Amino acid sequence: MFGKFEILISKFETVTFKTIRGTKDILPAETPRWQYVESVLRAVFHRFNYKEIRTPVFEQTSLFARSIGELTDIVGKEMYTFTDRSSESLTLKPEGTASVMRAFIQNNLGEAQPLVKLYYLSPMFRQERPQAGRLRQFHQFGAEAIGSPFPEADAEIIAMTIEIYRQLSLAHCALKINSVGCEKCRPRYKKILQAELRTIAPQLSEESRRRIEQNPMRVLDSKDENDIRLTAAMPLITDHLCEECSSHFGNVKALLTTLHISYTVDGRLVRGLDYYTKTAFELTSDELGSQDALAGGGRYDLLAQELGGKPTPGVGFAAGIERLMMIIEKNTMLNGLDVRPTIFLAAADSSSRSWVIEKTMELRSRGIAAETDFLQRSLKAQMREADRQRAAFVLVIGAEELKRQTAALKNLRVKGEREVSLADLPKILSEESL
Ligand code: AMP
Repeated sequence: MFGKFEILISKFETVTFKTIRGTKDILPAETPRWQYVESVLRAVFHRFNYKEIRTPVFEQTSLFARSIGELTDIVGKEMYTFTDRSSESLTLKPEGTASVMRAFIQNNLGEAQPLVKLYYLSPMFRQERPQAGRLRQFHQFGAEAIGSPFPEADAEIIAMTIEIYRQLSLAHCALKINSVGCEKCRPRYKKILQAELRTIAPQLSEESRRRIEQNPMRVLDSKDENDIRLTAAMPLITDHLCEECSSHFGNVKALLTTLHISYTVDGRLVRGLDYYTKTAFELTSDELGSQDALAGGGRYDLLAQELGGKPTPGVGFAAGIERLMMIIEKNTMLNGLDVRPTIFLAAADSSSRSWVIEKTMELRSRGIAAETDFLQRSLKAQMREADRQRAAFVLVIGAEELKRQTAALKNLRVKGEREVSLADLPKILSEESL
């Protein structure tokens, strides 16, 4: 590592470093919005009694291959997989559920209670073709309810997903739901679909042709217009569900109606991950363009077993933060959320500088957002800085003020000032910032 660095420097090359394609800096102008969104979604998760889990950013490659499925796009072509120095194959998390389930099994979380409700917030990594709404490092929040096979858990997960967007004042979200069946009815349906697809194979797109044998249900999910037209009359899984899946799906729909959640059934909705059973859902927004999925989720009753744990049913969802941000950025209500100092202390002369620094630190330790000058600027320049920082108050301290132990506290918001005792400053500001 160091060797390479030295070579670069010794050549005196001018190098400019940039973010990797498909990754983004989240700059200080944007972070207040992110923090706001994060606080809203945490509040919703907590209201629904979901607890946060943080799993490592990389895991054994086989965890994802086993759970997401060898033949899926994610595992087949999108994972950031590397071999570390001990020749172990590792992968940066492409999604959250596999890691959460691994942690659930490894830490016996199911022992303490029959239903474990978890949420996460994490960067995810997929080597997709970058475009608007599609990044290579993106952020997801998601939740998993592990332990209930019943439709009430599906309904809660869907209701919670919707509640998050509602709390963020996002209108125009559409909920699509489907049932992708189980190990009893899905293989049967897959065979029927496969046979039908083979008859039109030569006319389908190359991608869909490939999927007929590997993952036929995903052909119905194709974005290719010709594929959509050709497969319009294909049999749908919803007409081939076994009794158990059919009744589960009926109950989920009934519960959504009880909860006043509108939805459309989309028999073509299959999610890009193999571990789903029964319920699958997606929330889309017409404000997003071609990458219109805000969130997706479903039930995964066989995943725990697949990963070597005891059979444990589960249901969850994951949502992209960047896509949410694309809509929220249009929402001017969220402008002005940035961090601003309550007070800027300006030193009128060099003799008062150290007092000003000491007072700034004292105010901060008393919980007041205080700022001062660290560039030895003139008083005029300090006043300009206080304005630029949009501080609520400014206090100018010089030798005279220190002698009097009083100073003029200027209110920059309402353009007024009053003489205050320096000793009372923390008390006055604490009351003001309430
Ligand atoms: P998935 O895990 O594929 O079901 O995705 C769940 C959600 O994560 C999607 O609905 C998107 O909001 C978001 N998402 C997935 N892939 C990306 C990506 N490459 N870039 C940005 N957001 C993504």
